[in-house]
Amino acid sequence: MKLLPLLIFLFLSSCTSVSITERKQLIILGDDVIYPQAFKAYDDFKKKNKLIEEGADFNKIQEITENIKKAIKVFYESHKKPDPTANFKWEVILVDNNDIKNAWCMPGGKMAVYSGILDIANNDNALAALMGHEIAHAVARHGSERASQGVLLDIGTMALEKLILGQSLSGDSRRLYEYFANFGVMLPFSRGHETEADYLGLVFMHIAGYEMEEAARMWQRMNKENSNSQPPEFLSTHPSNKTRIENIRKWIPEVKKKFKLS
Ligand SMILES: [Zn+2]
Repeated sequence: MKLLPLLIFLFLSSCTSVSITERKQLIILGDDVIYPQAFKAYDDFKKKNKLIEEGADFNKIQEITENIKKAIKVFYESHKKPDPTANFKWEVILVDNNDIKNAWCMPGGKMAVYSGILDIANNDNALAALMGHEIAHAVARHGSERASQGVLLDIGTMALEKLILGQSLSGDSRRLYEYFANFGVMLPFSRGHETEADYLGLVFMHIAGYEMEEAARMWQRMNKENSNSQPPEFLSTHPSNKTRIENIRKWIPEVKKKFKLS
């Protein structure tokens, strides 16, 4: 069995590109396969964790989500491009846990912010930077891309043949569920994904009317926490370094010029 031509076919047939950055990406599992498992994992997460469902912090994260959501819509409408969030089922929860410094956004716009990270994302602009970055991972389908890579690694020739015969690949739903059940605590995103989320996150927070300068400060505070005895969980999935902060500073004037506010 010749695997290489099959892989090439698979690559060509599943390649899409991320809007704004135009990076090519391979996603063999579509939203229709990914969302049900991610949403199920999210619902289970909500049942297992104590949530804060009222108060100033809760209202704030809802407000920021709303503003970023609108900014994304405006962005894609004004650029006459399909909105990758059109099929999102947006939701954001505030997890009552001051010991955990974490935040994430699953495919389809299912987000969590832990109360413990609010002393790093300690103002509107910083929180918008943090959430904008997480939302950008979902907009750019990074979670789906990684899940696809996982499936691709274990896929057998039979599954490839099935795909070539025109049958869609469903993925192993149990495996996908587990992948999303561990979202936010598992392997770090790749450097490429991080860079892309940083850039898109800046664009979205800027259009939503927040100050991008605070993004660099937020990451500085995050790195400072890292030198303490307990590094934030957020940094285990979002490894950070000086380059990230330098990039953000470098991009701010570019984003301001390129994406002018009306
Ligand atoms: Zn990230």
